[in-house]
Amino acid sequence: MEEYDVVVVGAGPSGAISAEYAAKNGAKTLIVEEHASVGEPVQCAGLISTRAMEECEVFSSKFINKEIRGAFIHSSSECIKIDGGGTKAYVIERRIFDRVLVQNAIDRGADLLLKTKVSDLKREGSRVIIEAVSHGVSMRISSHVVIGADGVKSRIAKLTGLGNVKKILPCAQIEGMYELTDPKFVEIFIGSVAPGFFAWAIPVEDDIARIGLCSKEDPLSHLMKMLSSSSSYRGSVMDFVVGAIPLGPLKKTINDNVMIVGDAAGQVKPTSGGGIYTGAKCAKIAGEVAAKSVHEDDASVGRLKEYEKRWRSMIGRELSMGMLINSMIGRVRDNEFDELLQTLRDKKLIDVIERYGDMDYPSALIPKLLRTM
Ligand SMILES: Cc1cc2nc3c(=O)[nH]c(=O)nc-3n(C[C@H](O)[C@H](O)[C@H](O)COP(=O)(O)OP(=O)(O)OC[C@H]3O[C@@H](n4cnc5c(N)ncnc54)[C@H](O)[C@@H]3O)c2cc1C
Repeated sequence: MEEYDVVVVGAGPSGAISAEYAAKNGAKTLIVEEHASVGEPVQCAGLISTRAMEECEVFSSKFINKEIRGAFIHSSSECIKIDGGGTKAYVIERRIFDRVLVQNAIDRGADLLLKTKVSDLKREGSRVIIEAVSHGVSMRISSHVVIGADGVKSRIAKLTGLGNVKKILPCAQIEGMYELTDPKFVEIFIGSVAPGFFAWAIPVEDDIARIGLCSKEDPLSHLMKMLSSSSSYRGSVMDFVVGAIPLGPLKKTINDNVMIVGDAAGQVKPTSGGGIYTGAKCAKIAGEVAAKSVHEDDASVGRLKEYEKRWRSMIGRELSMGMLINSMIGRVRDNEFDELLQTLRDKKLIDVIERYGDMDYPSALIPKLLRTM
């Protein structure tokens, strides 16, 4: 039986960064990924802030499609333009981005096992035994700690009694020809076009965009409706994606020998559905704490609570505020969104949004806007 200090389940961004941090802190680390290829299938629009790029500690023109400086926000009959004045975000090619992150983990000494699906976990003494099917053959791996970075339907969280995120928003997206108002700006559509969330058109090239939405139900028919009524969509679907966004973190993300990270833990911004930045922040802590627990030979829930405390103190409040904003947005009608955008058209308010709007910490904008109104 193979023996490791840390086994990370899932080779997405959160898994890769957890593994990188565990390995660079001296733990013998393995990443296990059920798919035969890192970064596939892609379930992402690929928009990340410049801050998120720094947090992931990667920067390469290899995976950057576009630099983004702002957004057009459309309600049913209004539109406002938010111009950050310089590059605020990047549109990335996730397939390549994920591979670069995994390569970083490998460069730090982590091993990678593809086409290996974890099916069960059992505690044996102070260690955990992972059961998996690798290339069609059953195998067992012994580890000190397991990091569950296995996405929204996390098997690891379920098997270890931590459960799965209760509220999940289904999403659908295509990549196709699209006449963008300005390819340096993303386009956001709010209201009944995507009940409970929003729709987007994210520039990939000057005339190609990722057009998608998440909604309370049936995102595919909402997307088809949006595309058929759009005057900017030019057809030619080149890519089609369905996926889901977890809303709200798990109550508990640790147990004896186990930590849960990223989408699996619900560490996703409920306002935008973005999980790369938050996942990366938490993954670094998970990797560090895992390695410390190896050196101290203590993977008890008491030792691992450092992870839970640190990630909650860093982003817990922002996630709670995000949940509040998300539930409020879900109740707003089209005519109310139109009125809101009419109000926000005021030059003073636009200035405040452009100055303080932050896609990673959106809640900070609300008090600033209220003070100006
Ligand atoms: C339509 C859509 C658009 C999005 N757009 C954005 C965006 O623009 N910006 C942004 O920041 N976020 C976006 N997100 C969210 C983002 O994609 C996720 O937050 C991010 O991928 C989470 O990374 P992760 O590593 O936690 O999980 P994942 O990327 O989901 O990786 C989990 C990995 O675990 C593997 N796995 C699962 N179970 C097992 C098992 N039993 N054994 C072995 N391996 C397993 C999976 O194959 C997968 O590779 C979007 C999501 C959707 C659905």
